[in-house]
Amino acid sequence: MITTLKTDITIREIVEGFEYNELEGKGLFGLSGKLTIQPEYQRNYIYADGRKDVAVIDSILKGYPIGVLYFNKIDDDKYEVLDGQQRITSIGRFVKGKFAAKDTNDHEQYYSGMSEEQRKLILDKELLIYICEGEEQEMMKWFETINIAGVPLKIQEIRNAVYHGQYITKAKEVFSNSQDANVQKWSTYVAGDVKRQDFLETALDWVSDGQIDAYMSKHRTDDNIEELKNHFDKVIDWVSNTFTNVHSEMRGLEWNRLYKEYGSNPYDPKEVAVKVKELYTSYEVRRKKGIFEYILGGMEDPSLLEIRIFEPSTIKTAYSQQTAKAEEKGVSNCPVCASGSNNNKDRTYKLSEMDADHVTAWSNGGATDISNCEMLCITHNRAKGNR
Ligand SMILES: [Zn+2]
Repeated sequence: MITTLKTDITIREIVEGFEYNELEGKGLFGLSGKLTIQPEYQRNYIYADGRKDVAVIDSILKGYPIGVLYFNKIDDDKYEVLDGQQRITSIGRFVKGKFAAKDTNDHEQYYSGMSEEQRKLILDKELLIYICEGEEQEMMKWFETINIAGVPLKIQEIRNAVYHGQYITKAKEVFSNSQDANVQKWSTYVAGDVKRQDFLETALDWVSDGQIDAYMSKHRTDDNIEELKNHFDKVIDWVSNTFTNVHSEMRGLEWNRLYKEYGSNPYDPKEVAVKVKELYTSYEVRRKKGIFEYILGGMEDPSLLEIRIFEPSTIKTAYSQQTAKAEEKGVSNCPVCASGSNNNKDRTYKLSEMDADHVTAWSNGGATDISNCEMLCITHNRAKGNR
Protein backbone atom coordinates (compact mmCIF):
# COMPACT_ATOMS: atom_id res chain seq x y z
CA MET A 1 0.00 0.00 0.00
CA ILE A 2 1.16 3.50 -0.77
CA THR A 3 0.34 6.44 1.44
CA THR A 4 1.40 9.84 0.26
CA LEU A 5 1.35 12.78 2.59
CA LYS A 6 0.33 15.94 0.79
CA THR A 7 0.91 19.24 2.50
CA ASP A 8 0.38 21.67 -0.35
CA ILE A 9 -3.31 21.29 -1.16
CA THR A 10 -5.11 24.44 -0.03
CA ILE A 11 -8.64 25.08 1.11
CA ARG A 12 -9.05 27.14 -2.08
CA GLU A 13 -8.55 23.97 -4.12
CA ILE A 14 -10.67 21.78 -1.88
CA VAL A 15 -13.72 24.07 -1.95
CA GLU A 16 -13.49 24.56 -5.71
CA GLY A 17 -16.79 23.24 -7.04
CA PHE A 18 -18.05 22.48 -3.53
CA GLU A 19 -21.62 21.33 -3.52
CA TYR A 20 -23.78 20.75 -0.53
CA ASN A 21 -27.07 18.91 -0.53
CA GLU A 22 -29.23 20.73 2.00
CA LEU A 23 -31.98 18.15 1.83
CA GLU A 24 -29.83 15.12 2.54
CA GLY A 25 -27.48 17.10 4.75
CA LYS A 26 -24.32 16.14 3.00
CA GLY A 27 -21.34 17.65 1.26
CA LEU A 28 -21.08 16.18 -2.20
CA PHE A 29 -18.01 17.17 -4.18
CA GLY A 30 -14.90 19.31 -4.01
CA LEU A 31 -11.47 19.67 -5.60
CA SER A 32 -13.06 20.64 -8.93
CA GLY A 33 -15.18 17.52 -8.97
CA LYS A 34 -12.30 15.14 -8.37
CA LEU A 35 -13.14 14.59 -4.72
CA THR A 36 -16.25 12.84 -3.46
CA ILE A 37 -16.80 14.29 -0.02
CA GLN A 38 -19.45 11.94 1.20
CA PRO A 39 -19.00 8.49 -0.25
CA GLU A 40 -21.74 5.96 0.30
CA TYR A 41 -20.17 4.53 3.41
CA GLN A 42 -19.95 7.82 5.26
CA ARG A 43 -22.28 9.23 7.86
CA ASN A 44 -24.36 12.27 7.25
CA TYR A 45 -23.00 15.68 8.14
CA ILE A 46 -23.32 16.15 11.88
CA TYR A 47 -21.22 19.26 12.47
CA ALA A 48 -23.97 21.80 11.65
CA ASP A 49 -24.66 22.53 15.29
CA GLY A 50 -23.21 26.05 15.48
CA ARG A 51 -20.36 24.77 17.61
CA LYS A 52 -18.37 22.10 15.85
CA ASP A 53 -18.66 23.81 12.46
CA VAL A 54 -17.77 27.22 13.93
CA ALA A 55 -14.84 25.65 15.77
CA VAL A 56 -13.35 24.44 12.50
CA ILE A 57 -13.36 27.98 11.05
CA ASP A 58 -12.10 29.38 14.32
CA SER A 59 -9.13 27.03 14.24
CA ILE A 60 -8.23 28.02 10.70
CA LEU A 61 -8.39 31.76 11.43
CA LYS A 62 -6.21 31.30 14.49
CA GLY A 63 -3.69 29.29 12.51
CA TYR A 64 -4.31 26.07 14.43
CA PRO A 65 -4.15 22.72 12.67
CA ILE A 66 -7.47 21.06 11.91
CA GLY A 67 -6.04 17.58 11.88
CA VAL A 68 -5.07 15.10 9.22
CA LEU A 69 -7.47 14.31 6.39
CA TYR A 70 -7.49 10.92 4.71
CA PHE A 71 -8.40 10.48 1.06
CA ASN A 72 -8.83 7.16 -0.66
CA LYS A 73 -7.53 7.20 -4.22
CA ILE A 74 -10.11 5.32 -6.25
CA ASP A 75 -8.98 6.12 -9.79
CA ASP A 76 -6.62 8.39 -11.69
CA ASP A 77 -7.18 11.77 -10.11
CA LYS A 78 -10.35 10.59 -8.33
CA TYR A 79 -10.59 10.55 -4.58
CA GLU A 80 -13.04 9.85 -1.81
CA VAL A 81 -12.82 11.32 1.65
CA LEU A 82 -12.14 8.51 4.07
CA ASP A 83 -11.84 10.74 7.09
CA GLY A 84 -12.37 14.49 7.26
CA GLN A 85 -15.79 14.70 5.67
CA GLN A 86 -17.21 16.70 8.56
CA ARG A 87 -14.38 19.22 8.54
CA ILE A 88 -14.38 19.67 4.77
CA THR A 89 -18.13 20.10 4.69
CA SER A 90 -17.92 22.72 7.45
CA ILE A 91 -15.34 24.68 5.49
CA GLY A 92 -17.31 24.39 2.26
CA ARG A 93 -20.54 25.50 3.88
CA PHE A 94 -18.84 28.45 5.51
CA VAL A 95 -17.36 29.64 2.24
CA LYS A 96 -20.81 29.24 0.67
CA GLY A 97 -22.23 31.56 3.35
CA LYS A 98 -24.26 28.97 5.23
CA PHE A 99 -23.23 30.08 8.71
CA ALA A 100 -21.30 32.81 10.51
CA ALA A 101 -18.17 32.48 12.60
CA LYS A 102 -16.14 34.86 14.73
CA ASP A 103 -13.36 36.64 12.85
CA THR A 104 -10.00 37.45 14.40
CA ASN A 105 -11.48 40.61 15.94
CA ASP A 106 -14.13 38.47 17.63
CA HIS A 107 -16.95 39.73 15.41
CA GLU A 108 -19.59 37.35 14.08
CA GLN A 109 -19.10 37.33 10.36
CA TYR A 110 -20.35 35.51 7.35
CA TYR A 111 -17.68 34.70 4.84
CA SER A 112 -18.89 37.47 2.53
CA GLY A 113 -18.53 40.05 5.32
CA MET A 114 -14.95 39.18 6.14
CA SER A 115 -12.00 41.26 5.05
CA GLU A 116 -10.08 40.23 1.97
CA GLU A 117 -7.14 39.43 4.21
CA GLN A 118 -9.11 37.04 6.41
CA ARG A 119 -10.68 35.31 3.45
CA LYS A 120 -7.20 34.79 2.05
CA LEU A 121 -6.12 33.35 5.39
CA ILE A 122 -8.80 30.73 5.01
CA LEU A 123 -8.36 29.97 1.32
CA ASP A 124 -4.58 29.78 1.41
CA LYS A 125 -4.53 27.41 4.35
CA GLU A 126 -2.63 24.29 3.41
CA LEU A 127 -4.08 21.04 4.62
CA LEU A 128 -2.45 17.85 5.80
CA ILE A 129 -3.77 15.09 3.59
CA TYR A 130 -2.87 11.43 3.39
CA ILE A 131 -3.65 9.88 0.03
CA CYS A 132 -4.03 6.14 0.37
CA GLU A 133 -3.99 3.56 -2.39
CA GLY A 134 -3.08 -0.05 -2.67
CA GLU A 135 -3.87 -3.61 -1.75
CA GLU A 136 -7.15 -4.10 0.04
CA GLN A 137 -5.83 -6.19 2.89
CA GLU A 138 -3.02 -3.78 3.59
CA MET A 139 -5.38 -0.83 3.61
CA MET A 140 -7.76 -2.61 5.97
CA LYS A 141 -4.96 -3.24 8.42
CA TRP A 142 -3.66 0.26 8.16
CA PHE A 143 -7.03 1.92 8.66
CA GLU A 144 -7.71 -0.27 11.65
CA THR A 145 -4.36 0.65 13.14
CA ILE A 146 -4.67 4.40 12.81
CA ASN A 147 -8.23 4.23 14.22
CA ILE A 148 -8.96 7.69 13.01
CA ALA A 149 -9.71 10.43 15.53
CA GLY A 150 -13.01 12.24 15.98
CA VAL A 151 -15.94 9.90 15.55
CA PRO A 152 -13.97 6.77 14.66
CA LEU A 153 -15.03 4.77 11.65
CA LYS A 154 -16.46 1.38 12.34
CA ILE A 155 -14.66 -1.56 10.81
CA GLN A 156 -17.48 -2.14 8.35
CA GLU A 157 -17.33 1.52 7.26
CA ILE A 158 -13.64 1.05 6.57
CA ARG A 159 -14.34 -2.17 4.67
CA ASN A 160 -16.90 -0.36 2.54
CA ALA A 161 -14.22 2.15 1.63
CA VAL A 162 -11.57 -0.44 0.89
CA TYR A 163 -13.84 -2.73 -1.17
CA HIS A 164 -15.81 0.06 -2.81
CA GLY A 165 -17.50 -0.77 -6.08
CA GLN A 166 -20.84 -1.76 -7.53
CA TYR A 167 -21.28 -4.74 -5.22
CA ILE A 168 -21.04 -2.72 -2.04
CA THR A 169 -23.22 0.03 -3.52
CA LYS A 170 -25.97 -2.52 -4.19
CA ALA A 171 -25.54 -4.16 -0.80
CA LYS A 172 -25.85 -0.81 0.92
CA GLU A 173 -29.08 -0.02 -0.91
CA VAL A 174 -30.59 -3.01 0.86
CA PHE A 175 -28.79 -3.26 4.19
CA SER A 176 -27.83 0.33 5.05
CA ASN A 177 -31.06 2.05 4.19
CA SER A 178 -32.81 3.27 7.33
CA GLN A 179 -35.88 4.19 5.24
CA ASP A 180 -36.37 0.58 4.17
CA ALA A 181 -39.50 -1.02 5.64
CA ASN A 182 -37.61 -4.25 6.35
CA VAL A 183 -35.25 -2.58 8.79
CA GLN A 184 -37.91 -2.51 11.48
CA LYS A 185 -38.44 -6.26 11.20
CA TRP A 186 -34.74 -7.04 11.01
CA SER A 187 -33.96 -4.98 14.09
CA THR A 188 -35.84 -7.57 16.12
CA TYR A 189 -33.01 -9.99 15.38
CA VAL A 190 -30.06 -7.83 14.39
CA ALA A 191 -28.34 -5.45 16.79
CA GLY A 192 -26.72 -2.12 16.01
CA ASP A 193 -27.29 0.93 13.89
CA VAL A 194 -28.31 0.44 10.28
CA LYS A 195 -26.70 3.78 9.31
CA ARG A 196 -23.39 2.75 10.81
CA GLN A 197 -23.38 -0.42 8.67
CA ASP A 198 -24.10 -2.87 11.47
CA PHE A 199 -26.86 -4.62 9.52
CA LEU A 200 -24.73 -4.90 6.44
CA GLU A 201 -21.92 -6.28 8.58
CA THR A 202 -24.26 -8.90 10.05
CA ALA A 203 -25.52 -9.95 6.62
CA LEU A 204 -21.96 -10.29 5.35
CA ASP A 205 -20.86 -12.10 8.48
CA TRP A 206 -23.65 -14.64 8.05
CA VAL A 207 -23.14 -15.37 4.39
CA SER A 208 -19.36 -15.60 4.76
CA ASP A 209 -19.26 -17.47 8.07
CA GLY A 210 -17.26 -14.67 9.61
CA GLN A 211 -14.86 -14.26 6.67
CA ILE A 212 -16.14 -10.81 5.72
CA ASP A 213 -12.98 -9.42 4.17
CA ALA A 214 -12.33 -12.43 1.99
CA TYR A 215 -15.95 -12.47 0.91
CA MET A 216 -16.06 -8.77 0.05
CA SER A 217 -12.83 -9.01 -1.86
CA LYS A 218 -14.06 -11.99 -3.88
CA HIS A 219 -17.42 -10.47 -4.72
CA ARG A 220 -16.27 -6.92 -5.13
CA THR A 221 -17.11 -6.68 -8.83
CA ASP A 222 -20.27 -8.82 -8.79
CA ASP A 223 -23.25 -7.11 -10.35
CA ASN A 224 -25.77 -8.63 -7.94
CA ILE A 225 -26.10 -9.43 -4.25
CA GLU A 226 -28.42 -12.43 -4.58
CA GLU A 227 -26.39 -14.77 -2.41
CA LEU A 228 -26.06 -12.20 0.38
CA LYS A 229 -29.72 -11.31 0.33
CA ASN A 230 -30.97 -14.88 0.02
CA HIS A 231 -28.90 -16.18 2.88
CA PHE A 232 -29.90 -13.33 5.15
CA ASP A 233 -33.59 -13.79 4.32
CA LYS A 234 -33.34 -17.53 4.86
CA VAL A 235 -31.95 -17.11 8.37
CA ILE A 236 -34.42 -14.38 9.32
CA ASP A 237 -37.38 -16.34 7.94
CA TRP A 238 -36.31 -19.42 9.85
CA VAL A 239 -36.04 -17.52 13.14
CA SER A 240 -39.31 -15.67 12.72
CA ASN A 241 -41.16 -18.85 11.72
CA THR A 242 -39.73 -20.88 14.58
CA PHE A 243 -40.20 -18.23 17.27
CA THR A 244 -43.48 -16.57 16.43
CA ASN A 245 -43.45 -14.14 19.37
CA VAL A 246 -40.98 -11.31 19.49
CA HIS A 247 -38.74 -10.69 22.52
CA SER A 248 -36.13 -7.99 23.01
CA GLU A 249 -33.53 -10.60 24.00
CA MET A 250 -33.60 -11.97 20.45
CA ARG A 251 -31.71 -8.96 19.26
CA GLY A 252 -28.12 -9.67 18.27
CA LEU A 253 -28.10 -13.42 18.94
CA GLU A 254 -25.94 -15.64 16.75
CA TRP A 255 -28.82 -16.57 14.51
CA ASN A 256 -26.64 -17.76 11.68
CA ARG A 257 -24.82 -20.24 13.92
CA LEU A 258 -28.13 -21.45 15.37
CA TYR A 259 -29.56 -21.79 11.87
CA LYS A 260 -26.60 -23.92 10.83
CA GLU A 261 -26.86 -26.11 13.90
CA TYR A 262 -30.62 -26.49 14.13
CA GLY A 263 -32.06 -25.21 10.86
CA SER A 264 -32.84 -28.68 9.55
CA ASN A 265 -34.64 -29.88 12.69
CA PRO A 266 -38.43 -29.80 12.75
CA TYR A 267 -40.08 -27.64 15.41
CA ASP A 268 -43.72 -27.01 16.15
CA PRO A 269 -43.97 -23.22 16.46
CA LYS A 270 -47.00 -23.50 18.75
CA GLU A 271 -45.20 -25.77 21.21
CA VAL A 272 -42.13 -23.59 20.97
CA ALA A 273 -44.18 -20.49 21.80
CA VAL A 274 -45.65 -22.16 24.90
CA LYS A 275 -42.20 -23.21 26.06
CA VAL A 276 -40.71 -19.76 25.45
CA LYS A 277 -43.46 -18.14 27.47
CA GLU A 278 -43.03 -20.61 30.31
CA LEU A 279 -39.29 -20.02 30.49
CA TYR A 280 -39.72 -16.26 30.22
CA THR A 281 -41.99 -16.22 33.25
CA SER A 282 -39.85 -18.62 35.22
CA TYR A 283 -38.16 -17.12 38.25
CA GLU A 284 -35.31 -19.63 38.00
CA VAL A 285 -34.21 -18.57 34.50
CA ARG A 286 -31.73 -15.77 34.96
CA ARG A 287 -30.46 -15.58 31.39
CA LYS A 288 -33.41 -14.99 29.09
CA LYS A 289 -31.14 -14.68 26.05
CA GLY A 290 -30.35 -18.37 26.39
CA ILE A 291 -33.98 -19.51 26.08
CA PHE A 292 -33.95 -19.74 22.28
CA GLU A 293 -30.87 -21.89 21.96
CA TYR A 294 -32.00 -24.01 24.92
CA ILE A 295 -35.25 -24.84 23.14
CA LEU A 296 -33.59 -25.39 19.77
CA GLY A 297 -31.18 -27.83 21.41
CA GLY A 298 -34.00 -29.96 22.77
CA MET A 299 -33.88 -28.44 26.28
CA GLU A 300 -30.84 -30.45 27.27
CA ASP A 301 -28.40 -27.77 28.32
CA PRO A 302 -29.71 -25.71 31.26
CA SER A 303 -26.34 -23.97 31.58
CA LEU A 304 -27.57 -21.70 28.76
CA LEU A 305 -30.20 -20.35 31.12
CA GLU A 306 -28.02 -19.73 34.18
CA ILE A 307 -30.56 -21.31 36.46
CA ARG A 308 -30.93 -19.59 39.79
CA ILE A 309 -29.09 -21.31 42.60
CA PHE A 310 -30.14 -21.65 46.23
CA GLU A 311 -29.54 -18.65 48.45
CA PRO A 312 -26.80 -19.12 51.11
CA SER A 313 -29.39 -18.64 53.86
CA THR A 314 -31.58 -21.39 52.36
CA ILE A 315 -28.58 -23.71 52.24
CA LYS A 316 -27.71 -23.04 55.90
CA THR A 317 -31.28 -23.65 57.03
CA ALA A 318 -31.62 -26.86 55.02
CA TYR A 319 -28.28 -28.05 56.41
CA SER A 320 -29.14 -27.48 60.06
CA GLN A 321 -32.64 -28.97 59.80
CA GLN A 322 -31.37 -32.03 57.95
CA THR A 323 -28.39 -32.51 60.28
CA ALA A 324 -30.55 -32.24 63.42
CA LYS A 325 -32.97 -34.91 62.12
CA ALA A 326 -30.14 -37.20 61.07
CA GLU A 327 -28.44 -36.93 64.46
CA GLU A 328 -31.70 -37.87 66.20
CA LYS A 329 -31.81 -41.04 64.13
CA GLY A 330 -28.09 -41.61 64.42
CA VAL A 331 -27.52 -41.68 60.65
CA SER A 332 -25.53 -39.65 58.16
CA ASN A 333 -26.86 -36.20 57.28
CA CYS A 334 -26.43 -37.14 53.62
CA PRO A 335 -29.63 -39.12 52.90
CA VAL A 336 -27.96 -41.17 50.17
CA CYS A 337 -25.08 -42.15 52.46
CA ALA A 338 -27.59 -42.89 55.24
CA SER A 339 -29.57 -45.33 53.11
CA GLY A 340 -26.51 -47.25 51.99
CA SER A 341 -24.36 -49.79 53.77
CA ASN A 342 -21.05 -48.06 53.27
CA ASN A 343 -18.55 -46.63 55.73
CA ASN A 344 -20.24 -43.23 55.62
CA LYS A 345 -23.72 -44.35 56.61
CA ASP A 346 -23.52 -42.58 59.98
CA ARG A 347 -21.08 -39.85 59.02
CA THR A 348 -22.04 -36.28 59.78
CA TYR A 349 -20.72 -34.03 57.05
CA LYS A 350 -19.72 -30.44 57.59
CA LEU A 351 -21.57 -27.78 55.60
CA SER A 352 -18.46 -27.29 53.45
CA GLU A 353 -18.55 -30.99 52.54
CA MET A 354 -22.06 -30.81 51.10
CA ASP A 355 -23.89 -29.24 48.16
CA ALA A 356 -27.49 -28.15 47.75
CA ASP A 357 -29.57 -30.20 45.35
CA HIS A 358 -33.02 -29.75 43.80
CA VAL A 359 -35.16 -32.68 45.01
CA THR A 360 -37.39 -32.25 41.99
CA ALA A 361 -35.17 -31.15 39.12
CA TRP A 362 -35.61 -27.57 37.93
CA SER A 363 -36.46 -28.83 34.44
CA ASN A 364 -39.37 -30.83 35.92
CA GLY A 365 -40.80 -27.77 37.62
CA GLY A 366 -38.92 -28.01 40.92
CA ALA A 367 -38.59 -24.67 42.72
CA THR A 368 -35.37 -23.14 43.99
CA ASP A 369 -36.48 -22.68 47.60
CA ILE A 370 -36.25 -24.48 50.94
CA SER A 371 -39.17 -26.81 50.15
CA ASN A 372 -37.18 -28.37 47.31
CA CYS A 373 -33.69 -28.11 48.77
CA GLU A 374 -31.81 -31.18 49.95
CA MET A 375 -28.19 -31.30 51.07
CA LEU A 376 -26.09 -34.14 49.67
CA CYS A 377 -22.46 -34.95 50.28
CA ILE A 378 -20.34 -33.66 47.43
CA THR A 379 -19.77 -37.15 46.01
CA HIS A 380 -23.47 -37.99 45.87
CA ASN A 381 -24.44 -34.58 44.54
CA ARG A 382 -21.99 -34.95 41.67
CA ALA A 383 -23.24 -38.47 40.98
CA LYS A 384 -26.80 -37.18 40.82
CA GLY A 385 -25.86 -34.23 38.64
CA ASN A 386 -24.24 -36.51 36.10
CA ARG A 387 -27.25 -38.73 35.68
ZN1 LIG B 1 -23.56 -39.07 50.54
